[in-house]
Amino acid sequence: MKTYLNTINGKAVGSDKTFESINPATGEAIGRVPISTKEQVAEAVAAARAAQPAWAARPDAERKALMMKTAEIIKANSAYLAEWVTREQGKPLGGVGPDQVPGARFEVWGCEAWTQVPASLDLPVEVVFEDATRRDEVHRKPFGVIGAIAPWNWPLLIAIWQIIPSIRAGNTVVIKPSEYTSIGTLELVRLISAALPPGVVNTVSGAGEVGSWLVSDPRLDKIMFTGSARTGAKVAEAAAKNVIPVTLELGGNDAAIMLPDADPKAMAMGLFWGAFINMGQTCAAAKRLYVPENLYEPTVQALKEIAQAMPMGDGMKEGTVMGPIQNKMQYDKVVDLVESAKSEGGTIVCGGTAPGGPGYFYPLTLVTGLKDGNRLVDEEQFGPVLPIIKYRDVEEAIASANRLDAGLGASVWSADTAKAAEVAGRIHAGTVWINQHGMIHPMVPFGGAKGSGYGVEFGVEGLKAVTRPQVISIKK
Ligand code: NAD
Repeated sequence: MKTYLNTINGKAVGSDKTFESINPATGEAIGRVPISTKEQVAEAVAAARAAQPAWAARPDAERKALMMKTAEIIKANSAYLAEWVTREQGKPLGGVGPDQVPGARFEVWGCEAWTQVPASLDLPVEVVFEDATRRDEVHRKPFGVIGAIAPWNWPLLIAIWQIIPSIRAGNTVVIKPSEYTSIGTLELVRLISAALPPGVVNTVSGAGEVGSWLVSDPRLDKIMFTGSARTGAKVAEAAAKNVIPVTLELGGNDAAIMLPDADPKAMAMGLFWGAFINMGQTCAAAKRLYVPENLYEPTVQALKEIAQAMPMGDGMKEGTVMGPIQNKMQYDKVVDLVESAKSEGGTIVCGGTAPGGPGYFYPLTLVTGLKDGNRLVDEEQFGPVLPIIKYRDVEEAIASANRLDAGLGASVWSADTAKAAEVAGRIHAGTVWINQHGMIHPMVPFGGAKGSGYGVEFGVEGLKAVTRPQVISIKK
């Protein structure tokens, strides 16, 4: 079986120890991944450190052009990369573009878009004060070396979110993909490295221990972490020891609230994808749906019809819309939460029974009859299960949305967008969507509140987040 290699200082690097990457649709091993040694992690950081001054010193136009070249490489290799996403992560190949089934081809298309957009953005010098005596300018400087740690749900797209703004701003990067989905990311970096000077983007691979070596390296200048709250806290601790900043994109438990004037039939498809995109394995997916009594039955019925019509299977087969859960750990968590919902008085509307292997398939599951305080409502399921909770008045629904420590996203659904915006403003979350959910965009900042983390990615704000301000103050 082929071993896929890391890229360190522009060279392909293996390791004596490797592990198998598993296809979650079949349970079969699909390639081997190196377990980077502590020395290799140090070597990768050293390569990034050495490459950074020259990279930052390049004229802006040159860096932009190289990044556009990077986007072209992604496009030229999109079929190859999408196949890796499907075989390794599980999401079906699907269609291309924002209106299609958000599968692996969509993920690679997103990589291209999230490369082109930061490449086209600028951070001009800002004059923040000027009078007859002085002129004060804010310049944006790269931090230096960014250490990035990625999760397994959108392995290529999240890697791109971490890499591209960082290098656009003149930083260099060492990234560690999740041990569940390493090959696609190692291949992505190998391919784009053809357009970049050696050392600008480097990879290391392995499990949490390798990540902990990376984030505690004192030569890092900033960390970007996307993953669970538990690991995020450890990463923040490592960053604090070296007094460096960190962007934490952590878990969510997004509430979607339908207002009494919403139209269940018209909104059902948007609600469905808001909850079940990538089999619910999306940080900002709707993870609990609050529905007023008058809309409860038609909403449950409309979602049930959609859920039961979605073809599930091996995502390499064209026409498949839903794939497996990505790994055994997550599968067991989903099974456990559904079983606890049953024991806490929940009613299974559809799904709710594991079919058994091969692969980690679990049916799309809707659960009614639960309330706040039940485990499936309070804990992040990160899988194809949605609790639908009945509420009496809007105040109650807002309180429900706000009662947990998670604050990544939320949504409000209504025929009256002004009224929905009023409700949205009272929800403590990084983003509140109206009549859509999880609709991120490369120009729009994205980040969490409360236990969902801090710092933002995307757009001008995201680019600023990988730079530090430097004031140049001139006496006249
Ligand atoms: P995880 O925290 O288990 O792992 C994330 C990464 O951290 C992996 O690469 C892992 O190897 C690494 N890691 C583990 N221990 C480490 C340590 N001590 N030091 C450094 N790195 C370490 O998370 P996961 O299961 O891969 O991802 C799922 C979670 O991520 C969910 O909670 C989800 O909501 C969240 N998520 C958030 C966003 C967002 O943008 N907010 C996006 C995607 C996923």
